[in-house]
Amino acid sequence: MPEGDTVWRVSRRLGEALAGRVLTRSDFRVPRFATTDLAGRVVHESLPRGKHLLIRVDGGVTIHTHLRMDGSWRIWPAGRPPPRDHRVRLVLENADWQAVGYLLGVVEVVPTAREDRVVGYLGPDLLGPDWNADEAVRRLAATPDRPAGEALLDQRNLAGIGNLYKAEVLFLRGISPWQPVGSIGDMHALVELARRLLEANKERPSQVTTGNPARGAETWVYGRAGRPCRRCGTTIRAESRADSGAPAAERMTYWCPACQPGPGD
Ligand SMILES: [Zn+2]
Repeated sequence: MPEGDTVWRVSRRLGEALAGRVLTRSDFRVPRFATTDLAGRVVHESLPRGKHLLIRVDGGVTIHTHLRMDGSWRIWPAGRPPPRDHRVRLVLENADWQAVGYLLGVVEVVPTAREDRVVGYLGPDLLGPDWNADEAVRRLAATPDRPAGEALLDQRNLAGIGNLYKAEVLFLRGISPWQPVGSIGDMHALVELARRLLEANKERPSQVTTGNPARGAETWVYGRAGRPCRRCGTTIRAESRADSGAPAAERMTYWCPACQPGPGD
């Protein structure tokens, strides 16, 4: 599941391959930008913003992409023809590297001066240099009746959490995903724990919250429906509620009804 830590790492890899180099090819395979050509321009930098990725290019333009559920980037040495694969949404190439974006949920070009139009609504970025826990707590507290799980996924409150970290953070803090966010005792501890987990995982390809990177041991509750809780042995539950407006895979919530007592029991 691409969450803030994944995007942070992808952004760094793209920056290493593209920043400071002149694009020799840009191939936008989305209808709206099919004729956009950025060849000849220098890429300045690649920046993660929550789960969004911004690639700033000379001439005041920014390529905005989002991995959504299934997106990924692959980078290999330049020179070969770009893949003729219907899953490819964007190809960026320079003299050294070819970066290919697969199944990106968003691909668009915006003026760098207007990046706010696409990421301005985001709450504090858990991995950003401007992370502000007080502001994240203030935003969460503004809708006290909202279920905690749903509030954590709302990128307007804080940016970077997806379904895995939502489930894991709530488990570790003993909070039911259905508990109203306003009734959480220490919201500060909750958001700081989320930041620590993303921070700890941003350098590695797997997402580990238990401290054990062995396959099948990485998480407390995420992806473990029907299996015993690692802490108390109670069967982990999973439920999808259709009312949150999120895509199906994001609606699925995992929790231990004993370690996280609350309205979901
Ligand atoms: Zn438990």
